[in-house]
This record gives sequence, structure tokens and C-alpha cells, in this order.
Amino acid sequence: MDERMETKERPVIQVKDLYKLYRVGDSYVRALNGVNLEIYKGEFCSIVGTSGSGKSTLLNMLAGLEKPTRGEIVIAGEHMEDKTENQLVRFRREHIGFIFQSFNLLPAMNAVENVALPLTFQGVDRDIRLRRASRLLDLVGLSEERKHKIRTFSGGMKQRLGIAQALLNDPEILILDEPTAGLDPKERVRFRNLISACARDRIVLLSTHIVSDVEYIAGEILIMKEGRLIHRGAPDAITHEIDGKVWECRVDPARAEELCSRYNVGNLKNVGNKTILRIIKDEKPMEEAVPAEASLEDLYLYYFQEEGR
Ligand code: ADP
Ligand code: MG
Repeated sequence: MDERMETKERPVIQVKDLYKLYRVGDSYVRALNGVNLEIYKGEFCSIVGTSGSGKSTLLNMLAGLEKPTRGEIVIAGEHMEDKTENQLVRFRREHIGFIFQSFNLLPAMNAVENVALPLTFQGVDRDIRLRRASRLLDLVGLSEERKHKIRTFSGGMKQRLGIAQALLNDPEILILDEPTAGLDPKERVRFRNLISACARDRIVLLSTHIVSDVEYIAGEILIMKEGRLIHRGAPDAITHEIDGKVWECRVDPARAEELCSRYNVGNLKNVGNKTILRIIKDEKPMEEAVPAEASLEDLYLYYFQEEGR
């Protein structure tokens, strides 16, 4: 990846007034409702939002897999809407690597063959294919399992294969739609570290509904709600908005239950015979509440409180 097409001054990805309507029966679902977005070289963005907020739709559109109803997508200076299907395929191959929410591996093939598969369709020689795939398996820590059949792999191993495959053409943009779904906590940590390593020299766009997955790795957090990007910022800066709105209180379990039904409550923790609650509220909810430092999780709850109830 020696020749990058963009300098820092111009965004590599520009999305303008993007709308996507899906027809369902005789009505329409607004999956995207006016998205505007600029992403610069090397940025790591996490798109966070509840299920149905439009994350996959946006990512699919950026990868050129779906057409917008209205709006513009410009990547590396090129307008996606002007491209034919074949041009899109070529563009994707050159610039974008991705793992989609339901990506498929072929269970009867081994790891290295699976990773190399897209290169087969690109007419790359077998030796080169396997060499490149092997190198990527090294990178994701699966070189010992390179000859093992996929059906013996855990969820985390499959996700790492997905990453290896997404990196085949050394893309400047890496798109990962809910890559940590279904992973156990240990696999999550390992996968997070792998992604951080991949992000050093490229744009990474990752979606998740699990905030804690991205709190420590993403440079930018984008919050998506009802087809719109409603907030963007660095993890430590983005929570400032709710400074002074997060409270902690220590109460009896019965009281805790009552408070949960009344307020927007985050973490619950039992200590001895008391319960410690985090309440997100504009004003102090009760006399004994003490202010707490806002976390990304709190911010998420703040935005999605209606849905959390
Ligand atoms: P997320 O990935 O954040 O869960 P999606 O982008 O998958 O959200 O979906 C956004 C909205 O668009 C949802 O209401 C979903 O039901 C709807 N939707 C997505 N894809 C389709 C489709 N192919 N046909 C109809 N509705 C769709
Ligand atoms: Mg999705």
C-alpha cells in the first residue's frame, strides 16, 4: 500500500445526504434518513447503534453492494453513483476489504484455501494465492491451523480468517460489520487487538451494538440512531456531553428495583447487602446520589433510553 490516493486535506470517504428506503408490503422503511459523513485517511471509526439503526445498510452502501435511494458517496475522489456494476466490483477489489454480518466460509475447505478463494475469481496464480493467504494467516495467528478444515474452527478463529480474507488486496478501507458478534470475551480481546494492528495504516469502519467493544480501540465513535448519525467524537471527548448527568447511589435491593423502573439505569452492582446503581439523569435523582464520571456505556444509554426500557 505504497501509493495512497488521498492526502490528509481531503476526506477519503464522503457521504452526502444519503437516504435508503426499503419497500416492505405497501409501506417504506427508512433505513437511512439523511446521513452525512467524512472520513480521512487512517481514521478508525466505530459505528455504534442498536439493532435496526441502519449500520449494515450504511456499510453495505459504502462497499457498493447496495444502491442508495438518494444521496452521494465519493470514495478516493470517485463518485460511486456514476459507476457500472463491473466498475464497482473492480473498485471494491482495489480499495475495500470487508467482513459482512453473515459472511460465508466453505466448511469443506481448509483455512488457507478459504482465505485465498477471492483471488481465484480474480485469476491470480495458485502459488501466489496460497503464498499470500499463508502470510495473512500468519498475521492473524492461524498459521498452525492453515491446513485444518473450517468446520473445526471456533467463532473467533473464523472471524480472524475473515480479517485475513478482507486484507488480501491490502485495501485502504476495511469495513467490518459486527465483527465481534458471537465471540466469547477472550476471543473478543484478541480480535480487538488484531483490528487495532490492522488499523495503523488504513481506514477502518466497524459497526457494533456492543459499546465496550470499541471504547478502547476506536479513534472516533459515531452513534447511529433511526437511520441518522446523531453524534461523533473521540471516545474520551464524546462523553463530555453527559458530564454531570451520571449518578451513583447505594441503596437496598428493593429500592434498587423501584429505581430501575423509574429511571434510566446503567450498571447494577451488588456489594454486601446493598445495590450500587448508575442512574443517567439531568438532575440529581435523590439526596444520597453522588456524581460519577461518564462512560461511553452511559452515553449509549442516554441516547437509547426509550429503547432500553
Ligand atoms: P442494523 O445493521 O443497525 O441492525 P440495518 O441497516 O440492518 O440495521 O436495518 C435498518 C432498517 O432497515 C431496519 O428497520 C431493517 O429492518 C430495515 N432493512 C434492512 N434491510 C432491509 C431489506 N433488505 N428490506 C427491508 N428492510 C430492510
Ligand atoms: Mg446490522
